[in-house]
Amino acid sequence: MTAQETHTTDVAIIGAGPVGLFSVFECGMLKMSTHVIDILPAIGGQCVALYPEKPIYDIPAVPKITAAQLIDQLEKQVASFKPVYHFNQQVVELEKVDDYWQLKTSSNTLIKARAVIIAAGAGAFGPNKPPIADIEQYEGKSVHYLVHQQELFRDQRIVIAGGGDSAVDWAIALADIASEIYVVHRRDRFRAAPDTVEQMKALANAGKIELVIPYQLAGIEGDSGQLTAVDVKTLDGDQRRIEADHLLSFFGLVNKLGPINDWGLDVHNGLINVEPTTAATDVEGIFAVGDIAGYPHKLKLILSGFAESAQAAHAAFKVVNPGEALHFEHSTTSGLPGL
Ligand SMILES: Cc1cc2nc3c(=O)[nH]c(=O)nc-3n(C[C@H](O)[C@H](O)[C@H](O)COP(=O)(O)OP(=O)(O)OC[C@H]3O[C@@H](n4cnc5c(N)ncnc54)[C@H](O)[C@@H]3O)c2cc1C
Repeated sequence: MTAQETHTTDVAIIGAGPVGLFSVFECGMLKMSTHVIDILPAIGGQCVALYPEKPIYDIPAVPKITAAQLIDQLEKQVASFKPVYHFNQQVVELEKVDDYWQLKTSSNTLIKARAVIIAAGAGAFGPNKPPIADIEQYEGKSVHYLVHQQELFRDQRIVIAGGGDSAVDWAIALADIASEIYVVHRRDRFRAAPDTVEQMKALANAGKIELVIPYQLAGIEGDSGQLTAVDVKTLDGDQRRIEADHLLSFFGLVNKLGPINDWGLDVHNGLINVEPTTAATDVEGIFAVGDIAGYPHKLKLILSGFAESAQAAHAAFKVVNPGEALHFEHSTTSGLPGL
């Protein structure tokens, strides 16, 4: 496969979750350029894909922040280091060619980097898709598995399918934005947090949301990727046709470590074993941080991942700048270095 696009950088970061983003910051502080690759269409990892509206209480010096706000803040914090993002693509190959690690993505992009930081969480995210024929041709245009821009749904008719946190949270969040919202669920009991289910039911009583229960998705109608209606049915075979502009399908996301297993790293139970003081894997020039990094007594917390990012960046500096001395400086002394 010949690569369509080729980029060269100091450090390639696999994964744009909170820890991948903070790795951009730590590399930037040491004047290392970064490219960040994620299979998702935007930054945020688990925080945005799984629990954007939930408050997080254990980020130091931030008493309470929603997961989506945390990602917004990280995006601002790293912006001056000008990371280059490559979304909607999975890193599928990683091999050393001369002095560079070469990462090849599912979109056929080639990224050459002196060092690699793997911040891949539990692996590449992919949606559990409903079994509807030809759904692929609507994806990204009028069928969505994640919400990134609420404005896309302003004054639109939306069908939300699912009974978990994402379905309920987005039904509430979009209630004042969309013109019509239908929540399709196969039974009356929702798996989401009880207080948000109550909020959704209150919105339904106020006529802002229609609960379409007990129905499940049966098909979609439309043309050239643009949906016109969603067909639903009960287990007894009762059918209903809902005219709609968008379908938000929330049947969970699955993570796959996938190709990371094939890169010759010491992977055990889905974790890449690292030396905790440097985040170094057993392969020179490759580091792992965040949820995917394993070592004794590891806590899968965002704050642990942030500290690992600092360790990894300092260790990667020596790979990117061989022979150059690294003088430790506080940010209060160095300021934000330009690249
Ligand atoms: C409901 C819930 C609540 C939580 N609450 C808290 C909390 O209160 N406090 C706390 O500290 N932690 C909390 N966590 C855990 C926290 O979200 C994780 O520790 C954190 O997201 C890990 O960040 P990460 O950047 O390592 O990985 P992730 O956030 O998982 O991001 C990894 C990214 O890498 C991408 N990726 C993986 N493989 C590839 C590949 N080959 N190519 C391209 N992209 C790839 C994935 O698509 C993903 O976007 C919670 C988690 C959940 C699910």
